[in-house]
Amino acid sequence: MKIDISQRGVKQAEFLRHAFEQKKLAHSYLFVDANELQALNTAYWLACLFNCTGENKPDGSCQNCQQIISGNNPDVLLVTTEGKQSLGIDQIRVLKEELAKSPVQSSVRFFIINDAQKLTLSAANALLNLLEEPIAPVVTILITNNADQILPTVRSRTQIINFSAGQKADGRTAALLANGFNQEEIAELGDTTNLDKAGKYFYQEMLEYNSLALVSAHKLADLAKGKAEQNYLLLLLKKMAQQDLNNGSQQAGARMLKHLLEVDKMRYSNVGFHNLLDYLALQWKR
Ligand SMILES: [Zn+2]
Repeated sequence: MKIDISQRGVKQAEFLRHAFEQKKLAHSYLFVDANELQALNTAYWLACLFNCTGENKPDGSCQNCQQIISGNNPDVLLVTTEGKQSLGIDQIRVLKEELAKSPVQSSVRFFIINDAQKLTLSAANALLNLLEEPIAPVVTILITNNADQILPTVRSRTQIINFSAGQKADGRTAALLANGFNQEEIAELGDTTNLDKAGKYFYQEMLEYNSLALVSAHKLADLAKGKAEQNYLLLLLKKMAQQDLNNGSQQAGARMLKHLLEVDKMRYSNVGFHNLLDYLALQWKR
């Protein structure tokens, strides 16, 4: 495999550059590309972007870039099948052992796993906590030509970046676009794992009349400082309410939606986001 970072996915690379500049790179990505080499080039491009010492990052020509592209940077590791049928657990263990050491040159390591559809079940399971909460700074990039062959538990822990022809947006992007987000806002959002988690707790606490909801409201307001994040959080809450409405908890769902619509109105009259979440939490106080 000859790496050539000029043969990257241009749109996808710009998306990643934006996330990098906003310091919002995800822990883990799933690059889906019928042409795996293009995705692989993009993964190396990202590692170069991170480490490049040139002016137009990544230039592909400085010492760091060259070392990465030639496969000689100790902090950029590539896992391949090496001609075998599958990617086994031993190969994932090597990554984990590597992560327990400190990085040699860079502050962040890059683990690139090619042909991720060939991960065995045990290898995929061993990978899960690396994808979720790595013990040290690392960006793990899974590359596959078929997202359907990736275990849902793996898929759900990654941010999916679609390279395939026609640039069909991935599910998350498509859903956000359909809900009035533009590409810039989606890029600004970056990895929403923490926001998703905190939003779900908050929702549950409200339904349980748990007084912790007020504490969570404060935490969430700190977490969702940007407009895009705030829009996203409100959308998330509405979706959960909608789900309750459709799945038996009709009363709770309807009540939550009513309050959320009220919050929308208050938002138009410029009530601060902090106060909005407080308002919401207080509606569920016993
Ligand atoms: Zn460079």
